[in-house]
Amino acid sequence: MADTKTSEERSLNMSHIRSVNTKPEEIVRKFLFSQGFRYRKNDKRLPGKPDIVLPKYKTVVFVNGCFWHMHNCSRARLPKSNLEYWAPKIQKNIERDQDNYKKLRNMGWKVIIVWECELKKKVANDRLNRLCSEILDVRV
Ligand SMILES: [Zn+2]
Repeated sequence: MADTKTSEERSLNMSHIRSVNTKPEEIVRKFLFSQGFRYRKNDKRLPGKPDIVLPKYKTVVFVNGCFWHMHNCSRARLPKSNLEYWAPKIQKNIERDQDNYKKLRNMGWKVIIVWECELKKKVANDRLNRLCSEILDVRV
């Protein structure tokens, strides 16, 4: 893969990677697999290349990094320096996300977002169980 990231982006990326042992999307995939769900990964044919695609349930799951997708949580705070660089970049991500979700919904897919911060050890179980219900469309 071509390395087009700036050194600033890279160091931010690395700091995020270092804070978790397993990639967030892998945590979700492993859990779903253990529950008997079968899925496709990063399906390029769908808008936004969803992390997890469950054709049987016509459901896609995005596992979103709080910073890159501006979750409403403490992990998503913009860096104080270079704000004029980061703000438009993140804004573009958000717009692209919304656009992809809309396209997917128009195609009849159910779109579920799992945030990185929801996969912290203490809360991950709750979130993952809820995810099952959401996929199966059980009211919770
Ligand atoms: Zn978050």
